[in-house]
Amino acid sequence: MTKLAFLGLGQMGEPMARRLLRAGHDVTVWNRTRSRADALAGQGAAVADSPAQAAAGADAAFTMLADPAALREVVLGPDGLASGLAPGSVLVEMSTVGPDAIRELASRLPEGVGLLDAPVLGSVPAVIEGSLKVLVGGDRETYERLREVLEVFGPTTHVGELGAGASMKLVANSTLGAAVVGLGEALALADRLGVETTVALDILSGGALGNAVQRTRGAIESGAYEPRFKLSLAEKDLRLVQDAARAAGLDLPLAGAARAWFEDAANAGRGEQDYPAVIAHIRGEG
Ligand code: NAP
Repeated sequence: MTKLAFLGLGQMGEPMARRLLRAGHDVTVWNRTRSRADALAGQGAAVADSPAQAAAGADAAFTMLADPAALREVVLGPDGLASGLAPGSVLVEMSTVGPDAIRELASRLPEGVGLLDAPVLGSVPAVIEGSLKVLVGGDRETYERLREVLEVFGPTTHVGELGAGASMKLVANSTLGAAVVGLGEALALADRLGVETTVALDILSGGALGNAVQRTRGAIESGAYEPRFKLSLAEKDLRLVQDAARAAGLDLPLAGAARAWFEDAANAGRGEQDYPAVIAHIRGEG
């Protein structure tokens, strides 16, 4: 059993923390909105009053937060994780925040506190199945030390040095954004040309966008967009993709176009819906 802290109990974080508890670890949780910790408290988690308190005595602390601003606040803000983690402990950052945020953390964590970036591929069902793909960046020895704990979430890959996991996650999500927007535009064209949606989806499922069809078909056909991966978070990811590309001197027009559709859909009030709602927006559905 390892003493762990888990911070950020949203769609992903809450079931992830539950997996750690079920694996037999001693888990202390913290969430900005405390009531989201109630169910875990009933299952044996301790609930901390602040990130620093959650970190006290922990061997490792995990963060699963919305974006870089939330991460900065929780780690470096007042009563933040950085003030509670002891030398020898490790911060495992699992949100999608991009490599710049990881570099900032590395430069501001106290001496002796380790850091891994370990963002994940897969959504809520993969958390529940334990089949998330964990992309780890950082020192190999620290990775090996925490590997068994990380494997509670699913298979892990050591991608490279610190920030490499965060970078790989942006690379992966740039393709997700482009594929989903590509599907949305294809269906908008099908609508305009009078091709039935079912026929279009059947044919497209055997083509280059087959995986995107598979992921989004249920939502497209039911019109239900109960959030698992909020559209606003997908838009944030595409913003991070553009920022990282620009910082590397790269212009990616397709990523920019995909982001513009997501931003437009969020501005039209779809930010809290599941991300395939961008397809409904592109098709002009109200
Ligand atoms: P979510 O349901 O929106 O949860 C966000 C979490 O961040 C909540 O615990 C929220 O606290 C906290 N938070 C937001 N702003 C904060 C602030 N300023 N200070 C402190 N806490 C703050 O998001 P999610 O779907 O779990 O996603 C979490 C991360 O994983 C994101 O980076 C996302 O891009 C990434 N991700 C998501 C999925 C997915 O399918 N959902 C898949 C892979 C990766 P409150 O409860 O108080 O609002």
